[in-house]
Parts: sequence; structure tokens; C-alpha cells
Amino acid sequence: AGRPNPARPAAPPPLVVIDAGHGGRDPGAIGRGGTQEKRITLAAALELKRQLERGGRCRVALTRSRDVFVPLGARIDIARRREAALFVSLHADSAPGARGASVYTLAETASDALAAGLARRENLADRAGGLTLPSVPPEVQRILLSLMRRETRSGSERLARLAVAALDGEVALLPNTHRRAGFVVLKAPDVPAALVEMGFLSHPADEAALNRPAHRAKVASALAEAVLGYLATRRAVATQHGATDGAG
Ligand code: ZN
Repeated sequence: AGRPNPARPAAPPPLVVIDAGHGGRDPGAIGRGGTQEKRITLAAALELKRQLERGGRCRVALTRSRDVFVPLGARIDIARRREAALFVSLHADSAPGARGASVYTLAETASDALAAGLARRENLADRAGGLTLPSVPPEVQRILLSLMRRETRSGSERLARLAVAALDGEVALLPNTHRRAGFVVLKAPDVPAALVEMGFLSHPADEAALNRPAHRAKVASALAEAVLGYLATRRAVATQHGATDGAG
């Protein structure tokens, strides 16, 4: 134990997929000052990528690295095809009266009206880009969700808890910071995923903050801490399994 098995080649560092919400013909929310959500999400995604790659403990892929439209299904496919360890979707939507950062995981039943409304609007993104999602009957939705492996779900929940803890004290938070709803982009059955609303462009204070690179760097730093915390505990579990396997 403790000595690496020479027969087993070293695995590459885990891959984290960062998803900059919206893009191209789909600008996302637009603040009163004219800020487009698609620009804020891309700037934050590039900053988070830079911070994560600096540590060398994970690889990072982006669902988009420029102002292009990417359908929700294609965003999920990138994470699944490349066997990502994690999927983090970045947004800064609009929600009347709401202010501060919040984190969302997938659930069949939304935790509250705000989360339900966000998911409903996000799931229309493909229509804004000129495509329509095939309509999925509710019973198929239920089956898809029940196919999500239990560990994927608990991984998503753990990532969300770590993200809320890391953001707490750094930036303003929406009350009940961790919420749940049926976001299409979180539906990969095998990749733990969370959607982060970094703030709401409908709130002038959030819009001003999200336009500042220093504020986005602070958000990215908290999310990087959460991602690395998640990967560290995941690796500890894997190492334990490895030690058991090698015991004979
Ligand atoms: Zn959005």
C-alpha cells in the first residue's frame, strides 16, 4: 500500500466541464444597464478555467469559449462523451426582487417558485436559438430522473453544499441558497452537476458587481475551492477502493 501499481498507468487528472450559459442568438437575461448574461457567464467561465488550471489538479473543458449558440443537449453531451467528473453551469439570470448568488441541483419537483421559474426559462434556451426540444412526456421525464445513479445525485448535492459554503462570506447570497428544479442542462445521468446563479442581472447591485472583473474573480475563486474540495474527497474514496483491491 502507498506504492503506485506499476502495471496501472497513471490516470489523467479529472476533467471538469464549465458551462457558460447562453451565447450567440440567445443573450440570456439583460440587465437594466444593458449587461447581457451571455457575456458575464463567458467571462466568469474563462476566469474559473484559468484558476482551476493554475493548480494543476484537474483538467478543464468549456462548453463554449466564445459567443456562439450551443444547444442544451450538446452541452450535456460534451460532459458525458469526455467522462467529466463534474459539470458546473454558470448563469446570471433575472428574477424580480431577488439578489445574490445561489446554487441549483436537479430535482423533479422544484424547491420553490423562483427555482421553478428559472428552470422554465432556462429550458427555453434552445427555442431562442432557433431549435425546439422534442417534447418529453412527464412519465418519460420521471423515468429519466429515476435512472440518475444515486451517487450522481449525491455528488451533485455535495458539490452544491461545497459551493454554498465557499461563496458564503465572499459575496451576497440569496436566502435558501441551495435550491432545486428541473433544469435540462443538469440532466446527465452520470455526471454530477450544479447550476450557479452568480447573481441576478435584474438587480442593479448584482449587475454592477458582475460587471467587475474583481468580483467575478472572487466568485470564481469560491467555485474553484468547491470544485477542488469535491475532487479531493472523490479521490480519497477512489484511493480507499484501490487499497482494498490491492490488498490480496
Ligand atoms: Zn441563464
